[in-house]
Amino acid sequence: MMRTYKAAQVREPGKLNLVELPIREPGPGQVRLRVEACGVCHSDAATVEGQFPGLTLPRVPGHEVVGRIDAVGLDVSNWKIGQRVGVGFFGGQDGQCQPCQRGDFVNCAHPVVTGITADGGYAEVMIAEARALASIPDELTSAEAAPLLCAGITTFNALRNASLRAGDLVAIQGVGGLGHLGIQFARRMGFKTVALNRGKEKEKLAKDLGAHVYIDTSADDAAAVLQRMGGAAAILATAPKGDAIAALMGGLAVRGKLIVVAVPDDLMPINALPIVFGERSILGSLTGKAIDNQETLDFSVLQNVRPMIETVPLERAAEAYAKMMAGKARFRMVLTMTAGASSSPKGITRAEARS
Ligand SMILES: [Zn+2]
Ligand SMILES: [Zn+2]
Repeated sequence: MMRTYKAAQVREPGKLNLVELPIREPGPGQVRLRVEACGVCHSDAATVEGQFPGLTLPRVPGHEVVGRIDAVGLDVSNWKIGQRVGVGFFGGQDGQCQPCQRGDFVNCAHPVVTGITADGGYAEVMIAEARALASIPDELTSAEAAPLLCAGITTFNALRNASLRAGDLVAIQGVGGLGHLGIQFARRMGFKTVALNRGKEKEKLAKDLGAHVYIDTSADDAAAVLQRMGGAAAILATAPKGDAIAALMGGLAVRGKLIVVAVPDDLMPINALPIVFGERSILGSLTGKAIDNQETLDFSVLQNVRPMIETVPLERAAEAYAKMMAGKARFRMVLTMTAGASSSPKGITRAEARS
């Protein structure tokens, strides 16, 4: 049996090093995964660049993790060895703080954050909290399931929790890692779907993904176009540009919602007028808990939502991260640890695993 595993680890800010780490046993409430695939997310910069408050190095980043359970710790009764599971950004709640007492685990005061407070999935092996796991449906390969666990849940949950109604006009700002999934979810949830991006380059793709309308924000005033269409019930902001997001406020219908899931470095200069007159709002949405990841995966199978991915082996993690940071991923880089990560899963089926 292997005693060590390969991981891409951050020892000093800005550098990913390929290292060998000792294999540990999972503690109470934990499982050990043989990682098959891990998506590369922009939030991984919090770890790689050493920006996350209180982050301690060394740390293995990665929070779009799919793997097979190969050991379970004490007190884990609902997961079995051999099951294929996933874990996202939300890695577990403390169960004790005030938000947790109210069931609002995502806003836990002391959460486990995969790849930030605990080692993540840029590795062949990872320890995960059993309470943060979702079961991967057989219809999804490990590589395509991975991005659904952060980019997917982020856009899926933001849209489904916005009190929207079928047929509502919904705009997705940014056709990138998050946006290309947001467009698919919006269309398949039954909304009139508008994609916003700079330039003409992504128009065909956005329409192929399901957008009814594409607005080139470098040529047209997106807020004005949306108003001519009747105003958006919701605009999902996925591209981290504060001034561009703020400018979209004018595209909302009365009581419309600007939902922010991107975190721009610059400020968002918001005009209060449309907030007060028309009772529009601006709100944030942060990932989701384990059941939300399960429902993101299940909806993706039900309605045929898939991420567009480029896979690279774990050994090339630094290269994949650099490509993502340069905005050149089309549209999600996924690290693979096993030859089978991109092919149809075999082994324990979901029906067996759940029985
Ligand atoms: Zn992420
Ligand atoms: Zn808590």
